[in-house]
Amino acid sequence: MKGSVLVINSGSSSIKFQLVDPDAGDAVADGIVERIGEPEGLVKLRHGGVDTEHRGPIADHSEGLRQAFSMLAEVGLDLASAGIAAVGHRVVHGGEVFYQPTEITPEVLAEISRLSELAPLHNPANATGIEGAVRELPDVPHVAVFDTAYFHTLPARARTYAIDRDVAREHSVRRYGFHGTSHEYVAGQVAATLGRDVAELNQIVLHLGNGASASAIEGGRAVDTSMGLTPLEGLVMGTRSGDIDAGVVTHLHRSAGMDVEEIDALLNRRSGLKGLCGVNDFRELRRLIDTGDADAVLAYDVYVHRLRKYIGAYLVTLGRLDAITFTAGVGENVAEVRADALAGLAGLGIEVDPDRNTAKDRGARLISTDDSAVAVLVVPTNEELAIARAALRFAR
Ligand code: AMP
Repeated sequence: MKGSVLVINSGSSSIKFQLVDPDAGDAVADGIVERIGEPEGLVKLRHGGVDTEHRGPIADHSEGLRQAFSMLAEVGLDLASAGIAAVGHRVVHGGEVFYQPTEITPEVLAEISRLSELAPLHNPANATGIEGAVRELPDVPHVAVFDTAYFHTLPARARTYAIDRDVAREHSVRRYGFHGTSHEYVAGQVAATLGRDVAELNQIVLHLGNGASASAIEGGRAVDTSMGLTPLEGLVMGTRSGDIDAGVVTHLHRSAGMDVEEIDALLNRRSGLKGLCGVNDFRELRRLIDTGDADAVLAYDVYVHRLRKYIGAYLVTLGRLDAITFTAGVGENVAEVRADALAGLAGLGIEVDPDRNTAKDRGARLISTDDSAVAVLVVPTNEELAIARAALRFAR
């Protein structure tokens, strides 16, 4: 366990954690602290194929981590004595300040908290998790790895909204992009799978999970991405609308009397697949489609239509395309989405092989035909491993 990295992804009432061996690329143990601040908290741990649980009140993030660490110690993984190399923290918004992994100091933590104005749902929880972890493991370097960092290279034409420049400047309104750790990791895995240098490749990466985003990557550098100021823009997601006419917001305010919080909840939590047909999980969506549910059929069609729109846009943005890759829960598991997203594009040199696409393999794999000029791949994302490796690289 010496040399392993603890990766922490902290939400407002939960903390996901994983102990990663960055050389082997394996998770030594992983778990989740749930219902922080509620009378009946829960810590779940998986180690060596065995699941354990602890129930009881968890007052705050610090106490949740203490309980998780004591469960780790019970299975022989005592973090305090075993010498872990670093703690890597997933932080959603790095604003215009943080564009690479950054070792946490009191000043860095204060800046992450200040950036809460750009990510009110995420950064406060990330900061609370960091505070708790630093308190519990004060002698280990803590490194923040930002979801926005990889998109630091977006050219001005791709990151700029066409609104009054003074308003934009004053309020830091621009496109930042999210899921960057995943897009960067997957782009690297694509190059490794194809036996090419990432610097030679023009790629589209489609991260399709409950949240979803697309990116256009030129020689390893992101040149466009679908998420914007917040993770709401772009593709249709599990519960988020993705692209929408901003006029809908003003219309709902004026005509329906909805206030900002209601509209925010509508677009982030009651939209996307869930808003369209009542479910956000693709397995349930499939079941509904099989029963002939018209709303579910429409939800699927809207989802795929938006996806194809972005693929088309990024194909033209890049000019030459070498690879299109599907990743995350939907991208890795739903062959039908992959087939429909790229159907009828043989004339553009993009052809999915039906047998390869539906094969039950789990690892990084090619699913295009041998004649396809553009390689189509499925690559499992591993944000925890990417965060662990980044934390080690940037820890002093
Ligand atoms: P993620 O956010 O990457 O964890 O992806 C979560 C989403 O992936 C779920 O809401 C499902 O829609 C989808 N998903 C995960 N596993 C499967 C599966 N085996 N079959 C179909 N959809 C899946």
